Amino acid sequence: MSSSIEEIVSVIGANRVGDRPAQVDWILTDSRSLCFPEETLFFALKTKRNDGHKYIEELYARGVYNFVVTEIPKKMQGCKDINFLVVSNVLKALQRLAAKHREQFDVPVVGITGSNGKTVVKEWLYQLLSPERRITRSPRSYNSQIGVPLSVWMMDSHTELGIFEAGISEMGEMEALEPIIRPTIGVLTNIGGAHQENFTSLQEKCMEKLLLFKDCDVIIYNGDNELISSCVAKSLFAAREIAWSMKDVERPLFVEKIEKDATGTTVKYRYLGFFKEYRIPYIDDASIENSLNCLAVALYLMVSPETIAERMACLEPVAMRLEVKEGKNGCVLINDSYNSDFASLDIALDFMARRSEGKMRRRTLILSDILETGQPGKLLYRQVADLVHSRGVDRLIGVGEEISAASARFEVKDKQFFQTTKELIASGVLASLRGDVVLVKGARAFHFDEVTDLLELKVHETILEINLNALVDNLNYYRNKLKPETKLMCMVKASAYGAGPFEVAKTLEEHRVDYLAVAVADEGADLRKAGITCPIIIMNPEVTAFKTMFAYRLEPNIYGFRILEDLIKAAEREGVSNFPIHIKIDTGMHRLGFDPYNDMKPLVERLNRQSAVIPRSVFSHLVGSDSSRFDAFTRKQIETFEAASAELQAGFTHKILRHICNTAGIERYPGAQFDMVRLGIGLYGIDPYTNRVLHNVSTLKTTILQIHNVSADETIGYSRKGVLHRDSRIATVPIGYADGLNRHLGNGNAYCLVNGQKAPYIGNICMDVCMIDVTGIDCKEGDKVVVFGDDLPVTVLSNALDTIPYEILTNVSNRVKRVYFQD
Ligand SMILES: *Cc1c(COP(=O)(O)O)cnc(C)c1O
Repeated sequence: MSSSIEEIVSVIGANRVGDRPAQVDWILTDSRSLCFPEETLFFALKTKRNDGHKYIEELYARGVYNFVVTEIPKKMQGCKDINFLVVSNVLKALQRLAAKHREQFDVPVVGITGSNGKTVVKEWLYQLLSPERRITRSPRSYNSQIGVPLSVWMMDSHTELGIFEAGISEMGEMEALEPIIRPTIGVLTNIGGAHQENFTSLQEKCMEKLLLFKDCDVIIYNGDNELISSCVAKSLFAAREIAWSMKDVERPLFVEKIEKDATGTTVKYRYLGFFKEYRIPYIDDASIENSLNCLAVALYLMVSPETIAERMACLEPVAMRLEVKEGKNGCVLINDSYNSDFASLDIALDFMARRSEGKMRRRTLILSDILETGQPGKLLYRQVADLVHSRGVDRLIGVGEEISAASARFEVKDKQFFQTTKELIASGVLASLRGDVVLVKGARAFHFDEVTDLLELKVHETILEINLNALVDNLNYYRNKLKPETKLMCMVKASAYGAGPFEVAKTLEEHRVDYLAVAVADEGADLRKAGITCPIIIMNPEVTAFKTMFAYRLEPNIYGFRILEDLIKAAEREGVSNFPIHIKIDTGMHRLGFDPYNDMKPLVERLNRQSAVIPRSVFSHLVGSDSSRFDAFTRKQIETFEAASAELQAGFTHKILRHICNTAGIERYPGAQFDMVRLGIGLYGIDPYTNRVLHNVSTLKTTILQIHNVSADETIGYSRKGVLHRDSRIATVPIGYADGLNRHLGNGNAYCLVNGQKAPYIGNICMDVCMIDVTGIDCKEGDKVVVFGDDLPVTVLSNALDTIPYEILTNVSNRVKRVYFQD
């Protein structure tokens, strides 16, 4: 949808500086996602940590001429060919523009909020309702203060129904989202503990969420949930309610019966006096709840119960994940099983472009027809071709009749087209990919899982899954505790606490952390080779690795005079000058560091007599910040550090950054942030003070290889240690102490989860496999086993072993493949 710049100026009440004629088709908030510069309007958003104004010059150089700003950057004040729309609050301007856009449409709009299930309900509604309606919906889970306006902006004259998610993490946010979505149909999926940090109670959060439904015609929710019911009652909305219930026959949508069997669930219900039923191919409670919310919306929109039943039976799972895996022949495989539509293709291509930055890898896209309703084919593929071109795809493999017919539109160096997935597979083209970044994106009907199967490197059935969204959530959780000017160093030493260094570093770099820290120079060099450009600090530099550090600009910690002399000598020999170093002071750990009382003076003198290296920061490490028992000692460490670092600073005219807090320090000593903090374990989801898991990042998973029925008089495993007390079902799983499963967890000292139920380890854990007791657990060979993860916190294992979660996480061995995903 296109708007003139004049319209936009008047909607957002901006003061326009510049008079370049312009038409706006695209809204941009993240400079890295730029695609169509000429028709783009960039909103220079200011967040606590970043400022879009910093990217204006770069965007201008790339051909963007329209900016919404709070002030015009000094350097650009003379530029005549730019439109600056000056406002007092850029986010508010974006939201107002979207709200105004929404006003033009008199169509039903479903607004979905709740703690879980928003995206599934949105996508299932799409599956249930789209055959006869043109639907505009939020891409992926674009549900934030920025994501919602961007989603609503996608409504156009073809839209017959809108479906948008709204997610909030603090008070006041829903009030801003409500006028943008302006739902006519409100769905509250459920209320749980997610994003609870900024709310005093679940009730407060629930009331805030309900604000979305202020002017709805109808509100849909689980009437059996007492909290939700009482909050809805308290809200005093005029809207009609469709509360569904399994208990209360008085509710408008009464669920009479839920029958689960091996392949699905049959739901019998009563609505407006009719008795009807449907079946879904799922048996978990969350899916059943999600389907009931969808049912209520569909009934309200007068879809016939027969049509609903027909479509419910074939509801497809919503794979929200974009997975990064190791492929065959050195390829990196990005598998985006998310819906095939233009918006999600854009996001996936953006992701691929960023992952291959600096690595000089060829970018290959395997793309099927885009089965999006409501878009004329010609226009759609012209847009797709533009997108593919501007995102720097080097090789395109298209599959399907429509994309093949549009083959001439694609300006890609290397392109091939196939009518069907079968033809692609038969061609042998897949085997020819070497070292590429390959993005696989296909509509469901094309069964691209067969393609990824062929490309994927087949591994051990034990994997460590890393949730990159959770990592970012944790990052933001700790960032919110920092003063805006405090810099942030993130620890990615020990392969990012076991999570695997590259994807984690890349994600952190994207979120603009100030420093990454690794243990040794080789780890840093690997990150550089993989394309990481942000400053990297080496915690334990070795004298033999100085050349590597100079070559890759890896900044060493310097903890004593001997290593300082060696470094200066090496730098002088290599002709290096002003190389940044970080001075470590020993304030009580007594591991490594300069003496705070006696070393500062000679250190300043020595540093001032040379120009090979320059102190960039000075720091120390707390020994007991995670325990109130050591508070007095911690305060003394901080005081000592303050005095010694001030003495060092006094010897120089340039600013030397000071830092002492680790994760627990950030949490417990907000007054000791100095100029920077060092975030480690918290990033990976563990709060070291409470030993609780914030947002779980890593899940160690395996599968059942075999199940034996063993009689009570037998034993399991080596040395006959696994003594049975009853006839038992014993499952064998392919993980052992060589994978990092500590042998002391055996013999019933801990358990894993099989289909959500606790299965104790029985007998001694072997090198590569172990046995678990699954007596009474509904499971079969091939089922998933969770060693630690969302529902089995890693702290359960560390407690059982009388150790700390750090050790469990970093012990997962390298042969366990890491698989990354993000929603
Ligand atoms: C590992 C490390 C950290 C991070 O500690 P966490 O407890 O994981 O937050 C901070 N500083 C230094 C010097 C470290 O070695």
